[in-house]
Amino acid sequence: MSEAERDIARRLLAGNGGAAAGTARPQAIPVRPVRARRGRGKQFADHPAVVDALCKQAAIQQLIDSTGLPHPLYLSPEGYNGAVIRSGGRELVNYSSYNYLELAQHSRVIAAANAAAAQYGTSASATRIVTGEIPLYGQLERRLAEIYQVGDALVTSSGFLTNAAVIGFLLGEGDVAVCDSLAHASLVAGTQWAGCRRVTLRHNDPEALEALLRTSRHQFDRALVIIEGHYSMDGDLGRIAEIAEVARRYDCAVLVDEAHALGVLGPNGLGSREHFGLPGDLVDIWAGSLSKAMGSTGGFIAGDADLVRAIKYAAPGMALYTAGPSPSNVAAVLAGLDVLADEPDRLARLWSNARLFCAALREHGMNLADSESTPIVPVIVPGEIRAGYAAAALLQRGYNAGAILSPVIPAGTERLRFFLTSEHTESHLRTTADHLADILTIVDHIPDLPLGPESATVHGLPPGAT
Ligand code: PMP
Repeated sequence: MSEAERDIARRLLAGNGGAAAGTARPQAIPVRPVRARRGRGKQFADHPAVVDALCKQAAIQQLIDSTGLPHPLYLSPEGYNGAVIRSGGRELVNYSSYNYLELAQHSRVIAAANAAAAQYGTSASATRIVTGEIPLYGQLERRLAEIYQVGDALVTSSGFLTNAAVIGFLLGEGDVAVCDSLAHASLVAGTQWAGCRRVTLRHNDPEALEALLRTSRHQFDRALVIIEGHYSMDGDLGRIAEIAEVARRYDCAVLVDEAHALGVLGPNGLGSREHFGLPGDLVDIWAGSLSKAMGSTGGFIAGDADLVRAIKYAAPGMALYTAGPSPSNVAAVLAGLDVLADEPDRLARLWSNARLFCAALREHGMNLADSESTPIVPVIVPGEIRAGYAAAALLQRGYNAGAILSPVIPAGTERLRFFLTSEHTESHLRTTADHLADILTIVDHIPDLPLGPESATVHGLPPGAT
């Protein structure tokens, strides 16, 4: 630990009245309660969500200001977002890109994106149903249907919107969505859009699903079980076959989000279906994002041809009432799939990096939650200030990993999350593990202060509002 870091830790402790860790009840950072002042353009000044967001943001800023650590949020890369980035004039080893195979900067992918822009322009310039159906969509949809061994697929301009729109279309009043407790916000948004009942399933637990459906399935008309192939918070794999088996017995449909699975799981990177050797029709909807390993932007679903056709013709936000994905984005995915097949060493490097990094972190005694040593690596650092400090301190040393705080994950399971790519080197991974171990010895002495209205000075509100 450097003298500067010792000083920072001292100042953080001073925020706790100077008490040594463990000797006093943690005190919150000084409070200035928020008083609303409504007025022109300020109708939302006292909206709880607005207040909470501003308080959290202010508390993080306060932590940064009081410690002199670099701000870890909204970091701006000056070039490609891969294993190494330049930001703020310095080079960082980066663990915050979903660019697992670094396809987003592959010369073939960029050339394909450029060629598509030259041929079709930079936009589809229409919804698909009215003259926006460029041929690239069909090409990619056939590839995705082959990958998932189903009748058809549909590509869209956003992974988030795909999840929200498809669930919003399929379910309604009287129906139920059974959502894994770690399901992505876009899946939860879909259940809100649908206006159905949402029930939370204990994470990745087929027995809990069985118990839940046994007691409550009869209360609902249609039911959809919503899980992920590769969970983005814990880096564990969805127990798709067992969950689908229970779901079938209780006459439920299943949706699997493949956002972090396509391009990552399976011997050829073709996702969860390939990884587990599942029949494509074991689940009803394979949904996903093109913004992760595929190195592009957009979303997709794959499933039964009639169901996909119905969604294409009738589901708002999929192919209707929204422009088709950009030609370059779709061409990039088509080229990326070719690179995936032609350069299998990328996937091999990604996985050997995952094994190496997880082993190095475990040697240091770190808590990796339910990690299955995949390229998504959580390191649990309970406490918002502690996790925030760990991320900022790591960043100061030249390593960028996101701190994930509640409500994204349950309070008490705050973590640093590392996304690996095929291009991290052994030296990147080992030095990161060593630095993090060192930082965690400091973190142990920081009191566990919450971030939020009780603990933050509110900045950014109009004079007199606080
Ligand atoms: N599903 C999961 C599991 C995700 O992690 C994300 C994005 N982080 C999405 C869906 C949304 O994808 P996109 O970024 O393409 O909108």
